[in-house]
Amino acid sequence: MKYVLVTGGVVSGLGKGVTASSIGVVLKACGLRVTSIKIDPYLNTDAGTMSPFEHGEVFVLDDGGEVDLDLGNYERFLDVTLTRDNNITTGKIYQSVINKERRGDYLGKTVQVVPHITDAIKNWIELVSSIPVDGKDGPADVCVIELGGTVGDIESMPFIEALRQLSFSLGKENFCLVHVSLVPVIGVVGEQKTKPTQHSVRELRALGLTPDLLACRSAQPLREGTKEKLSQFCHVPVSNILNIHDVPNIWHIPLLLWNQNSHEAILKQLNCLGIATTQDFQ
Ligand code: ADP
Repeated sequence: MKYVLVTGGVVSGLGKGVTASSIGVVLKACGLRVTSIKIDPYLNTDAGTMSPFEHGEVFVLDDGGEVDLDLGNYERFLDVTLTRDNNITTGKIYQSVINKERRGDYLGKTVQVVPHITDAIKNWIELVSSIPVDGKDGPADVCVIELGGTVGDIESMPFIEALRQLSFSLGKENFCLVHVSLVPVIGVVGEQKTKPTQHSVRELRALGLTPDLLACRSAQPLREGTKEKLSQFCHVPVSNILNIHDVPNIWHIPLLLWNQNSHEAILKQLNCLGIATTQDFQ
């Protein structure tokens, strides 16, 4: 199993969910079977009791699971049927660890965030990513994991640590990190500012994760000079810097990514350029 992790920096609501779904679409178009996991670092066990005014619609899965609306995006973009376990929350993880503790499964040990919570996160990801969601037998080829929230949030720290450990144990060829960031334009000069992205990449690196690709949200398409600056200061090749500018309709985004050869950059990182075919997009 190979994993594509989508993280977000600078501000929330950048379009991580749409980016993760669109990455799934381009990988599927390359002939790969794709599944997905959404991580929500809040303490609610699911989205069922959360206000839609604060959080958007509650998406109800076929198994009755009440989950984040991003899972609706995944189902619609990828034509898959997900389970409630494809949505991991801090609440679910803590509940499972505390249930185990009450059963005495830890045999008298002190139960801690590291390693017990982080191990539970890793086990959950590995177990759920192997569940087939596209009606075919056997696990998918690639699992796209979206980490909700913004890198650096206290809430997401155990997930970041678990994902760092997972990336280390899987090796570079099985783990690709796409960091979604913001490139704003300030003032009348109209310069596209790279500093917020530089800072969020630095934050990510300080936590032990290195971005392989950057997906930059901007109002207008990124200029070549902006890409070069991002490449130089964030240590990511220009070919791995994707631009997701504002579009009138989010269904354009898979095509936007495809036209920037995002599939080639991701497949190269995952060392499966030869396995996948790139013919049947549209
Ligand atoms: P996040 O997962 O980062 O919170 P979402 O994927 O839920 O963000 O997207 C937030 C909102 O922004 C959604 O309403 C989505 O439709 C919209 N959106 C995302 N990307 C774009 C884009 N490139 N152009 C216009 N709207 C977008």
